[in-house]
Amino acid sequence: MVRKEFKCQRCGKRFEIEVFEQGEAETKNQPTAPVQCPNCKSTYIEVVRVVSTKARSGR
Ligand SMILES: [Zn+2]
Repeated sequence: MVRKEFKCQRCGKRFEIEVFEQGEAETKNQPTAPVQCPNCKSTYIEVVRVVSTKARSGR
């Protein structure tokens, strides 16, 4: 899982959601659900930045 900050292109609301990374979703056989704005339910979402990723142990 990776926590990303999104910005709604419709109402401009910013929010953070944990989403599966593409490769991760495939591995776990889960559908990549479209990110939806909690305010206006729009799926027209832009990724602002990656907030945090699950750090892997070691390098
Ligand atoms: Zn919105």
